[in-house]
This record gives sequence, C-alpha cells and structure tokens, in this order.
Amino acid sequence: METIVGDYQITGTSIARGSFSDVFLGKHRYDNSKVAIKRIKVKNARKLDKIVAREIEIHSKLRHPNIIKLHDTQINYTTNHVYLIMEYCAIGSLKDYQSTHFFTEADIQNFMRQIVAGLRYLYENGVLHRDLKPQNILLDEYRTIKLIDFGLAREFNDSHTDDGPSMFETFCGSPMYMSPEMVHHRRYDTMSDIWSLGVIMYELITGRSEEHTSE
Ligand code: ATP
Repeated sequence: METIVGDYQITGTSIARGSFSDVFLGKHRYDNSKVAIKRIKVKNARKLDKIVAREIEIHSKLRHPNIIKLHDTQINYTTNHVYLIMEYCAIGSLKDYQSTHFFTEADIQNFMRQIVAGLRYLYENGVLHRDLKPQNILLDEYRTIKLIDFGLAREFNDSHTDDGPSMFETFCGSPMYMSPEMVHHRRYDTMSDIWSLGVIMYELITGRSEEHTSE
C-alpha cells in the first residue's frame, strides 16, 4: 500500500492497531524523512467526530520535546479517514521497550524526569492527559520520551461550557492506571494523572505490572 497523504506517503509498514485507529510508518514525499501516520476511521469526515476533532485541536497547539509533534493533519472525505502525521518514534512504546531491556535506576530517573517535563507542559497549557500508560509513552531513536494519545485529553477551561455532566466527571482511561476517583466516576484533576504516573513508576522499578501482583 502506497497511500499519498498530502506531502506524506504511507510506506506500507503497519506499526500498530489501536482501538480506533491504525498507525503506519510513513515518509515525507520530498525529503524522505520518516513519520508515523495515524489513520482514524470516522463516521462522517464532514462532521468530524467530536473526540477526533478535539484530539486534533489540542494536539496541534502543543510544542514540547517530550510531547509527540503533530506535523500535519489530512482528511479524506471519500473514505472517511482522518490522518494524523506525527514525528516517528523508532524505539516504540516504553511498554515494549521494558519487555526487552533492563532499566537501571539512572534510566528510570531519566525517563521519569522526561515524563514529568511533558506533563508539566501539558498542565501549563491547561491540558490533562487522562490516559497515561506505558503504551502511550514512546521513545524516539535517542531515547527521548514522547507522550502520545491525547484522544481523551481535554482542555481544563472547556469544562464549564458543557451542559450536563462535566467531561472531567466522564469515565475514561485504562483501568490499570486509573485513579480511584476515575474508577468511581468522581471529579478528577491533575492528581489523577499523577496517580497513573505512580503506577507507571512502580512498573518501571519492579518490572511488574499490577496484573501480576494481585495474589
Ligand atoms: P488505544 O486507543 O488502544 O490507546 P489509539 O487508537 O489511540 O490506541 P495510539 O495509542 O495513538 O492509538 O497508538 C497505538 C500504538 O501505535 C502506540 O502504542 C505505539 O506503539 C504506536 N505509535 C503511535 N504513534 C506512534 C509514533 N509517533 N511513532 C511510533 N509508534 C507510534
């Protein structure tokens, strides 16, 4: 498959299948630089799903070394696909990386420092991540941490404009990393992301996930 997406091209290699999307390796058509292209299927591209539109809007404003850079967005109205063209993380997710590498204390400190820097930037810009997990923490070829997947992120300031329940009280995220207030559908804030960060740090240090510690 050699799909052209604006100035970019999907080269055919599938990197991952997410719940709502496929991620492919791609390249810039003129300078050949590698990119990751996330293809999201929507019902009607002309009336972009609120969640997808929100993901694009939030993401396109963010500029930080520890936040994945969104180079471009393209929409195919015929196939109802939205393409997010992002910088490519050659090493992949922290989850996969930990399954094949031993982390020293210095490695963990280095990763944690970068994750915290990315989160601090998000908070300074009024964004909660809300789905922080090792699958959403990527490493580029230089082992620089890049936070991805703002599909569930939400700008703080939007909450008061909602009719009905606040988005902050909406159930979302991955159970293993969810804070108690998220599990109980209670109001949550930056501290809920920090809970997820704590679970991630536990996993980085012990090499074990919650799944294996219930006995
Ligand atoms: P889910 O809903 O299951 O979390 P999703 O549909 O939101 O998935 P993402 O989490 O954005 O999709 O991406 C899925 C996977 O694709 C990531 O865990 C990662 O392995 C890979 N991936 C995403 N973006 C990139 C990138 N920029 N570089 C390299 N790999 C990437």
